[in-house]
Amino acid sequence: MKILANYHTHTKWCDGRDAPEDVVLSAIAKGFDTIGFSSHAMLPENVLDWVLTPDNIVRYATEIRSLAEKYAGRIKVLCGVEADYMPGGANPDRKTYGSISPDYIIGSVHFVKAPDGALVCVDNTPKELMDGIAAHFGGSVEAYIRAYFAQVREMVSRFDFDVVGHLDLVRKFNRRNPYFNEDSPWYVEELEATADAVAASGKIAEVNTGAISRGWLDDAYPSAAFRSLLRTRGVKFILSADAHSADAIDCAFDRFGGCEEYVRLK
Ligand SMILES: [Zn+2]
Ligand SMILES: [Zn+2]
Repeated sequence: MKILANYHTHTKWCDGRDAPEDVVLSAIAKGFDTIGFSSHAMLPENVLDWVLTPDNIVRYATEIRSLAEKYAGRIKVLCGVEADYMPGGANPDRKTYGSISPDYIIGSVHFVKAPDGALVCVDNTPKELMDGIAAHFGGSVEAYIRAYFAQVREMVSRFDFDVVGHLDLVRKFNRRNPYFNEDSPWYVEELEATADAVAASGKIAEVNTGAISRGWLDDAYPSAAFRSLLRTRGVKFILSADAHSADAIDCAFDRFGGCEEYVRLK
């Protein structure tokens, strides 16, 4: 099955390489019928300088909507956001992003709140992550991962958004299991509890190929085992490239196009 849509796309508005129009042209060239943009956003706070801010988010949406008009009839262009959840701060809720009425919201956890209140970044570099686990989780990878999944469960149950981003992002640096064993009972227990929470929330999961395009993993998020737990609970999926450049919007779609029954947004 050929998937002709990607909803998880970053551009120069955040940490992507290309301008939105370049991405639209790439999507048309690849025969897509839909392209959705999902700039990183951390409203209501502005924690980092490379994400959408309360000041420029309306300009972002205006640019995407004008591309939707310009290319109407050739491709459907959607305006979304990838919104962080940081307990006590940023949250992926439709009310929080009311100023742009996004077509959809992807809710993601990139920063885990430690018991001491520090935010540990999940996906920057292995060194930064291991330093963070040493300093804020007593050196326990298990404690950090349990906190990550607890935060994901809290996010899906509390906020009004559409798609849960890269559900097991904690696997990013774990190719061949250097940091933890993905078959450990405690890890499987976290996956099961999180699959239950996603199913109860009615939210959509994504099969996200972003770690393949950036060379971290040979596999998508979530793992095959986690996808199976989600699927048996009735969770629906979209296929996402998590693209950071115009040419990556269908990365590994040939490998993952047939692995789930995918739904469309909008
Ligand atoms: Zn993300
Ligand atoms: Zn992303």
